[in-house]
Amino acid sequence: MIRATVWCDGSDEARHPEIPQIYPGGIARYTAGYLREDATLDVRVSAFQDAAYGLGDDLLQATDVLVVYSHFFNDKLPQDRLDAVCLRVREEGMGLVLLHSALWMNLTRQLVGPCGYAAYREIGERERVWAVLPDHPIAQGIPASFEFQHSEMYQEPAGFPRPDDVIFLSWYEGGEASRAGVTWTRGKGRIFYFSPGHAMYDVMQSANYHQVVRNGVRWAAREA
Ligand code: ZN
Repeated sequence: MIRATVWCDGSDEARHPEIPQIYPGGIARYTAGYLREDATLDVRVSAFQDAAYGLGDDLLQATDVLVVYSHFFNDKLPQDRLDAVCLRVREEGMGLVLLHSALWMNLTRQLVGPCGYAAYREIGERERVWAVLPDHPIAQGIPASFEFQHSEMYQEPAGFPRPDDVIFLSWYEGGEASRAGVTWTRGKGRIFYFSPGHAMYDVMQSANYHQVVRNGVRWAAREA
């Protein structure tokens, strides 16, 4: 079994009480729910509001892959928790799956390097994701392209370090295109970033989205 922990900062739910209507139980529990459809994953949920910011040493030791969704609290994790997560990834090979705005998190900055996109746009426009590396394990079972009817645009150039692989590209109704699914390696750890996932839209309800994240977890655990 792959031990996966879904960690969220809870900030979107705190600011937007309607989110549980889109994602029942909130983003963390919703994410854990679709991960559990893969019987090889043993999934737990953790949050910024928990003891040790939901990233205590015991929990990290019992985690093979950490799935992170973060937004308004992107800079709130204290240095000792950042160091603990980075050590688990670099020295001990814990996998990391970063979703959407977690790209701007202090954890991502410390582990991957300075990260971000040039701009973003929240007008609920159409997004089409293209699997440009179809042989990659994270693209298994994913069609050549799939769409979200209402999504947030993230604009290139993405200010992140050169990825090992670019697995997905996104096209947006407004005309932009951006790298949407990329991987890095840091020390012994595998890291997958997937850019869609705006909390106020139903992007994360997509079956293809679920499959991408499940694949990402298995790949980050070196099981794919
Ligand atoms: Zn967003």
